[in-house]
Amino acid sequence: MPRSLVSTTRHRRHIVALIAILFIAVASTFAVIVLRSIDTIRNTANQIDDARAVDAASGAIEALRSQLSGTIHDNATWDGAYKQLNSITRKYWIIENWALTGSDNPLYDTAVVIDVRGKVIVAYKDGRDLGIDPTSYFGPDLDTLIAQAYNVKQKGGPVPVQFIQTGGGVAVVGAATIRPRISATRVEEGNLYALIFARHLTPSVVNKLSQVFRIGGMTLNLAKDEQMLNVPLDDVWGRHVAYLSWPSKLPGSRSFLAVRSQLAIGCAILVLFLAAIGMVGLAIIRKLREDEAASRYKAFHDPLTGLANRAGFANFLQNAIAEANGSAIQLHLLDLDGFKGVNDAWGHATGDRLLVAVADRLRAELPSYAFVARLGGDEFSVVTIGTQDALEHRVISSGIQRAVSSEFAIEGRLIQLGGSVGVSVVKDVDAEIGELMRTADIALYQAKDLGRGRTVVYEQALNAVRNERAMLEAELRQTLCGEGIDVKYQPLVDAGSQEIQGVEALARWSSPTLGPVRPDIFIPIAEKAGLIDVLGMQVLERAATTAARWPSIGVCVNVSPLQLQDQSFVRRAAEILEIAGLDPSRLTLEITEGVLITHPDQARRAIAALKALGVKVALDDFGIGYASIGALRKFGFDRLKIDKSLAAELDGDQKAADVFHATVALANALEIPVTAEGIETQSQAMIARLSGCDLLQGYLFSKPASADEISAHYFSSPKISVLANP
Ligand code: C2E
Ligand code: CA
Ligand code: CA
Repeated sequence: MPRSLVSTTRHRRHIVALIAILFIAVASTFAVIVLRSIDTIRNTANQIDDARAVDAASGAIEALRSQLSGTIHDNATWDGAYKQLNSITRKYWIIENWALTGSDNPLYDTAVVIDVRGKVIVAYKDGRDLGIDPTSYFGPDLDTLIAQAYNVKQKGGPVPVQFIQTGGGVAVVGAATIRPRISATRVEEGNLYALIFARHLTPSVVNKLSQVFRIGGMTLNLAKDEQMLNVPLDDVWGRHVAYLSWPSKLPGSRSFLAVRSQLAIGCAILVLFLAAIGMVGLAIIRKLREDEAASRYKAFHDPLTGLANRAGFANFLQNAIAEANGSAIQLHLLDLDGFKGVNDAWGHATGDRLLVAVADRLRAELPSYAFVARLGGDEFSVVTIGTQDALEHRVISSGIQRAVSSEFAIEGRLIQLGGSVGVSVVKDVDAEIGELMRTADIALYQAKDLGRGRTVVYEQALNAVRNERAMLEAELRQTLCGEGIDVKYQPLVDAGSQEIQGVEALARWSSPTLGPVRPDIFIPIAEKAGLIDVLGMQVLERAATTAARWPSIGVCVNVSPLQLQDQSFVRRAAEILEIAGLDPSRLTLEITEGVLITHPDQARRAIAALKALGVKVALDDFGIGYASIGALRKFGFDRLKIDKSLAAELDGDQKAADVFHATVALANALEIPVTAEGIETQSQAMIARLSGCDLLQGYLFSKPASADEISAHYFSSPKISVLANP
């Protein structure tokens, strides 16, 4: 997958995730703020109402006290009352006016009159005599209260009123000195009386307070009730005697309860909304993931075969190397033999079908742990990770060879392919893809070089071979650009008279660094480097020029199949002959059968054109390949050269001699003359002659020699006899 594509998809995914997170964060913050606000409103409403209730309760207590204070003040500051205190009927008067009224007076229920010496004159509660001493009924606080009352000297001064725990419960109690209203009346300080009124906080009193001041559920309690709101009732020392308590109305909470269902619905909607957004987000992310997976698949796979493509292969190899963890990585590179021919002959559609079939076979023949990829064209790769042993490599190699070697049935045709395989094994975890590819490539190159259907495992030596080839290629290029290729000539003699009939021109080259290099080595290098055309033309030019100086013997020149692919070859050959002044009929071009199979039409055209020019064409190296005698006629060859390997077998091998004999006989039957090459012994020469070969070539007669040596030996006198054994 292209990096840009990966990064955009990843980028988009990040943005979606970010938006989702942001959204959820904002929504939750919002929800928290709303809930917090509702809570604050609730609490504040509760607090405000509680404060109001506490104020009201405090007001109620204050009202209790001021009512009692006012009542006491009004009764104690009374001329009539003051006068009565010194009469003998004072007790009856007090009972009549103050004590009995306590039974139904809403302002007080208890009335006590005590003189300055502490003598109790009257002590009544609820209109009846109290029955016990007021001090023990009210407790010691009564004396303190009375003392405070006596201390108030001027009339109209404050009446001390406090809460006291009496024998009858909690009461609000006040005291004042009984004084005349008119200031003219003399007051005897030694003859003073105190008037004490008390009002007990009975349940009905508390209830009334509760109603008047609108505080529901108010009760009197001796201890503070933490679950309720409380207002203390203080004694003369400021101590809390009791509490008025009532439950908080919690209006905020009640409002909250009222709106709770709406709030719940709102929250549910919010949650649903968030969930919907989340689901949409998830769907988007899933879609993006699918898109990413799809484009990743596309980027890493070959649409034709479904195998991994070059990018997929590189990706796999990269991960494999990263995770190899000490185990070896084996790379097999497969190059199909003969695929190009199929494509050229039957078109790309057939070629494509063949590639699909090859991919299917590879999948079927190779173990499942082998990673197969198509690198492009007809090149495939197989990667395995595991042991370094040769067995592992052989399993894969033979699987590959099995896959490509048997015939493919495509569109009714039976197509025979083959595969060259280069193998590289890295044992080093630090290996790089580039190095693995390079070494497998070198091995593949070597495999192709050795011929079809080979598997070559890369070794260090191959690398050296490759380097040497590269060096030779550079040097050869230099030679061709400079002084040109050298040519030697090997005589072709008449089978009977052994007189020279012609020569074969053979290219010779000496590397500046390695010395003489065999044509078997440098011709393929020239072919691969695209130098064969120049080389071939140089040989032709030299041979033609040289032969033109000699009497009318023939000259044979080797032509690479690649040269024939060039449309201008025949024209340029004609030009060379023209310039050299050589009669075209003296020239024979030797071509090997390869071109007949790979480019039959081209070969036919070229041969026809050469023959039209008057040049002869010979089929070289007959007997080692597939070419049949039939091909000789089909392509119009003028001559057949039997390969030297067949001549080499003639000594003592009757079967070989029979085959040789039959071959020559067949060619002769088609009136095609035959040259036997590689003749080294007299017996070989004899068999060849008896079989029907008219020309013989070989070390027996002469090794390839320079033009001067040929001239000196054959075309001047006296003859130099070194050539028979140079
Ligand atoms: P070829 O065309 O079959 O050439 C004959 C080869 O056989 C020559 O090898 C020659 O030296 C060798 N030979 C001759 N007599 C004997 C013998 O009695 N015994 C043995 N064992 N070998 C003998 P050379 O010169 O090494 O050339 C090898 C091949 O290189 C040639 O095989 C030809 O295919 C190719 N070649 C040489 N020169 C050229 C050229 O100018 N152009 C092209 N395209 N190929 C060339
Ligand atoms: Ca030849
Ligand atoms: Ca030959």
